[in-house]
Amino acid sequence: MRNVEQIYINGEFIEPRGTERLDLINPATEEKIGSVRLGNAEDVAAAVKAGKKAFPELAQTSKAERVDMLLSLRDAVTANPEELIDAMTEEYGAPSYFTAFSVQNTASVFEVMAETVENYDFDRTAGRSAIRMLPRGVLAAITPWNSNFGFIATKLAHAIGSGSPLVIKPAEQSAIQTEVLVKRLHKAGLPAGVLNVVNGTGPVVGAAITSNPDVATISFTGSTQAAKIIQRAAIDGMKRVILELGGKAPTVLLPDAELDKAIPIALMSGFANSGQACVAGTRILAPRSRMAEICEKLKIETEKLRVGDPRDPEVRIGPLASQAQWERIQSYIRLGLDEGAVLLTGGEGRPEGLERGWFARPTIFTNVTNNMRVAREEIFGPVLCVLSYEDENEAVEIANDSDYGLQAYVLGIDADRATRLAERLIAGRVVVNGAPHDPRAPFGGFKQSGIGREIGAFGLDGLLEPRAVLTP
Ligand code: ADP
Ligand code: MG
Repeated sequence: MRNVEQIYINGEFIEPRGTERLDLINPATEEKIGSVRLGNAEDVAAAVKAGKKAFPELAQTSKAERVDMLLSLRDAVTANPEELIDAMTEEYGAPSYFTAFSVQNTASVFEVMAETVENYDFDRTAGRSAIRMLPRGVLAAITPWNSNFGFIATKLAHAIGSGSPLVIKPAEQSAIQTEVLVKRLHKAGLPAGVLNVVNGTGPVVGAAITSNPDVATISFTGSTQAAKIIQRAAIDGMKRVILELGGKAPTVLLPDAELDKAIPIALMSGFANSGQACVAGTRILAPRSRMAEICEKLKIETEKLRVGDPRDPEVRIGPLASQAQWERIQSYIRLGLDEGAVLLTGGEGRPEGLERGWFARPTIFTNVTNNMRVAREEIFGPVLCVLSYEDENEAVEIANDSDYGLQAYVLGIDADRATRLAERLIAGRVVVNGAPHDPRAPFGGFKQSGIGREIGAFGLDGLLEPRAVLTP
């Protein structure tokens, strides 16, 4: 049993003022593994106060000082990856291939930001004026449970890179992972008040953050629904918001796609992070002329994917993060059937042999049209839709006919053709032919997928404002 009793304010681990508790559950076993004592509005006030106090000095730091802090943070999270992996596996249930990537990425985020700071033009000229890019003030971040380490690291990297103290509320159901990570971040020896972490729920701690007058910027990663509440709350304080939200990414299989290669890539994108990924390629667009062979291959390859114990290195799909998530997925599978979609594989219930744990069956719907709710709404689990198109124009039309615009995927033998199609898609990132993760590419979306970008210079731009000094 691991009970998380402390939050982190002004460089110290302290007992929160809040007294409510939340049980922490291993989603692969449904067993209680601990609990967390949640913060409240008073804790947020103390955290923001600490950030505000740290701001003037942090804002003055040189590039070299920021780079030093970022590299210390990188070093603090690089040692003993097993400790981080174990916490993520036990509390969240991600399969080991994904935890390994995630932990490595947590360190790399700091390194990429150090490089960004080195190359960023904080001092510029415009006309006859001298421009300096200045941090806006305290940065507040609110993050979800589907990649807790990576999100905390990303928000902190941007805070340090821009010279903005951070107050962060990670997802309350990730409290063990947060504690393991923050203990390491503490060891990096940042000045007091530069990092403050308050566990708590969205309606209590999240709401106190978004309404605090001393928060200048809110960086939120999570659902489009919560983002709207947050954005409304940010209006009075004239806070800038950076929002990285949901997605319904299309995966366009071009007519020349080589299915032996393309289908496994499409499935890895669709079922990434057990389907709990805003970037998941959940709408597979297939040329009508090849529909039969594509469906056959999708079925065969999906049924080969091992679902189960996240510690098993062969497992590709772990449990959903919680009972609520599991029930949400079940209801979407029922909805798809009600809407007239046809099950190619999967369906309601648990996979055979997995009676305990929040495991869902990897599910693919065919005969889906783009007006169905299962094709329009973010399901956030291992449920994919196959839609057919006649020609490339129709593929682009369907791909772009979405409320979201976070990510897209294109697969085809002719790389130029695939790239030309990629350039017609409305998405923050378009991944061609299974290109590897690029830790320097800007991240964020169009439409309901959000506002602004993270990573690199684009990420820093969102946290800085220019001051122009005009001289005669
Ligand atoms: P989910 O419902 O799947 O947990 P959310 O988008 O609601 O996804 O959660 C992402 C993060 O946003 C979490 O840290 C959550 O506590 C927080 N959150 C949820 N609702 C609010 C809100 N009204 N105000 C501020 N934060 C919120
Ligand atoms: Mg929610």
